[in-house]
Amino acid sequence: MTRFDTKLAHLGRASAHAARTVNPPVARASTILFDSLDQLREARADVPFDTPRYGIYGTSTTFELQTAMAELCGTESCIATGSGLTAIAATLSAHARQGSSVLIQGDVYEPARVFAERELADSCEVRFFETVEELEALVNADTSLVFIEVPTSLTMRIIDIARVVASARRVGAPVACDSTWGTPRFFDAHALGIDISIHAGTKYIGGHSDVMLGLTTGTYEALAPTREWCVRFGSTAAPDVCWLGLRGLRTLSVRLERHQASALKAARWLEQQPQVVRVLYPALPSDPDHELWRAQFSGAPGLLTVELVACDEAAYTRFIESLELFGLGASWGGFESLVLPAIPHSRRGLQPQPDEGRLVRLHIGLEDADDLIGDLAGALEEL
Ligand SMILES: *Cc1c(COP(=O)(O)O)cnc(C)c1O
Repeated sequence: MTRFDTKLAHLGRASAHAARTVNPPVARASTILFDSLDQLREARADVPFDTPRYGIYGTSTTFELQTAMAELCGTESCIATGSGLTAIAATLSAHARQGSSVLIQGDVYEPARVFAERELADSCEVRFFETVEELEALVNADTSLVFIEVPTSLTMRIIDIARVVASARRVGAPVACDSTWGTPRFFDAHALGIDISIHAGTKYIGGHSDVMLGLTTGTYEALAPTREWCVRFGSTAAPDVCWLGLRGLRTLSVRLERHQASALKAARWLEQQPQVVRVLYPALPSDPDHELWRAQFSGAPGLLTVELVACDEAAYTRFIESLELFGLGASWGGFESLVLPAIPHSRRGLQPQPDEGRLVRLHIGLEDADDLIGDLAGALEEL
């Protein structure tokens, strides 16, 4: 069993074999019982962290998901948490030490940036960078972590990971990356040198907009500080949530293929429309980071940002509200299409200028692509 799609179908089912079911049973537990004191001590000393000991550490359902995810990501270990944001907060906090400096890409997922500004900055120095050149100038002996997101949220920029990794390695600092957009299917984070890869399982891995889940992958050594933080803060993912994550994994590849094909079709069509200034989607040859995307990704999912021509608030509202197939709501990665106003960090709290293009974020779901394009065509007439 070597290829990714076969692994998606077969990994994480050890506990199902005992039950003679296809899917693993949900093991819900706080207390774990032992036959002897020796057995209890053995469980507590466990290093792969996949022996049940207490609910906080997970049950067989948690371990099935974690083991499957680690293998899919080509690494040793995975930590499941109750949300993607918890996974980010855990990794950032675990590397914040007095006198150390955590370097964060400016346009990361907005709540991650807010966490860094409001919580992390109390315990260490927090510096934001926009470009790889800025990062290279900031890295020094005090750097305890570099955190990037590829592509950045809303602005969809793709950084040169080899340069990020080389610059962090010079001072022995680990690199953490928010890999949610690419998923393990399109983005092989660890092969590119990333030490800690974070996935909001809430998005494509869950895939059905009905679960909150974070998954952090890396070697045992790279994840040790994050794992300790999660245990100390009592952070865990419920077994039911892990079960939904595992179920989502089975169809990840087939869903992504459709998301990709439809998103590319919609993006190419949108680019041609007079009401569209540009489409921020790295899979488009016109995208400024297209070459970096090609070098570092093997595909692109359904999330993109569109810059509409400058328009007043009323027209912008009409565009969004006249979409019938795109739900208006946060998150993405489910089977359904979504639209959301996109306000990058640098524009938060500012009034849009009259001549400024207006951004929307689209999630291209699994509906028929031509129906989605028809819906967009109708809405664009409002501009
Ligand atoms: C949604 C999202 C997260 C956070 O995931 P939650 O499970 O919603 O907390 C993190 N990073 C990115 C890029 C996201 O889009």
